[in-house]
Amino acid sequence: MRKTFLHSPTDPSRYLLANVAIPPALCALQPSTDGWCHADILVENGNIKNVFPHSGPPAVAAERIDAGGSILISAMVDCHTHLDKAHVAAFQDFPPGDLLSAIAATVDNKNTWTAESLRNRVEFSLKSAYAYGVRAMRSHVDFTVDSPDFVWKVMTDIRNEWRGLVELQLSPLSGINNFQDPEFCRSIYDLADRNGRLGAFLYDQQNLVTQLTPVFEKAGAEGWDLDFHVDEGLDPSLNGLAAVAQVAHDTKFPGTVLCGHCVALSAYSPDRRDRTIISALQAGLHFVALPTSNLYLQSRDPENSPTQRGMAPVARLASLNATVSLAADNVRDGFCAFGDFDPMAVLGLGAQVAHLHEPARDWCALITTNPAASLNLEWMGNIEAGAPADLVLFAARNGGEMNMSHGAERRVIRNGEWIKAQLPAFRDLDEGVKIDA
Ligand SMILES: [Zn+2]
Repeated sequence: MRKTFLHSPTDPSRYLLANVAIPPALCALQPSTDGWCHADILVENGNIKNVFPHSGPPAVAAERIDAGGSILISAMVDCHTHLDKAHVAAFQDFPPGDLLSAIAATVDNKNTWTAESLRNRVEFSLKSAYAYGVRAMRSHVDFTVDSPDFVWKVMTDIRNEWRGLVELQLSPLSGINNFQDPEFCRSIYDLADRNGRLGAFLYDQQNLVTQLTPVFEKAGAEGWDLDFHVDEGLDPSLNGLAAVAQVAHDTKFPGTVLCGHCVALSAYSPDRRDRTIISALQAGLHFVALPTSNLYLQSRDPENSPTQRGMAPVARLASLNATVSLAADNVRDGFCAFGDFDPMAVLGLGAQVAHLHEPARDWCALITTNPAASLNLEWMGNIEAGAPADLVLFAARNGGEMNMSHGAERRVIRNGEWIKAQLPAFRDLDEGVKIDA
């Protein structure tokens, strides 16, 4: 057990957080020769009042906390999760299967849910995310016409209760074939209207352009954003992303379209991959790669693993200037029996899978500013004068000390306050969790 590496300021309404190392994507200062922006941050009344280059004691009268070169990032954003399913404790209830067997097993598992158990799991997830330093999340919530009513009531209540701690966006999710049923459309469009966004699962369904066109037209007319699960598999015949790009372009869709997974891109030829990405970028699409569930499900073969591993080509997307993020996706459910809601741990895993060099320094936009843009948040996460003092300070002073394979010790700062939130214990799932922020 390590001891806490820094103590809170005496007066959180005004203090100087001195000698921090900020990734250049989050800071306008000139990076030093080590590639980090070394800075002193003046915090006042919950906001960043000023960002000074770190070059000795600056001329401001404020309590000075010397962070000793610690890494500082803005509070993190997780743009693709499934809080409704998270923490159902997967191993005993789910086969070690693929995507489609996980979907089938989840249908059975949902029959055991109650409003109370759902609330316990969602609050557990949010409590974890908050303690890790997450400020905003998007959760997909499964919807079919026979979904129990309590699911959306519980999710909506919790979203409202957690405002100001974790900004939670909800996105109704269903297979695209369901949109052919007018009764289904009335129900899901009502949910989309109340949440400002709509999601659909695209895998190997037929006539995707024909099926997507009325959904885009409806969402465009109503001012909703769209969020797709698309091409979550290694079969190169999957072509959902190309269909989304075509329909977004043809309908001149005005909102933000976030495309999750896009695993099949990694199975395309380089030429087809680039053509698909470029047409998606011309249509304004955003991307999110989900390393945990992709590693868990794709090409799963207990007798021969590992064989092929799947993940959207994050480095290629970034080199083509795509807005690309990493997110937690499924946590301890049938789609991934592992995981947690710590975006820095997701970046650590994603960096190994996708060969991202110096992830904390050079790829932190994947868990801060990029998902903030995809979720249309008010603040993108740049550490600058006037921004909220919503920050995460790590004990690590460079990429080597961050290591990424285990959670570096951290202090989470929200509205300038150094919060004391702790990770919940799994046994809390038995009896319910109180919000203890
Ligand atoms: Zn997902």
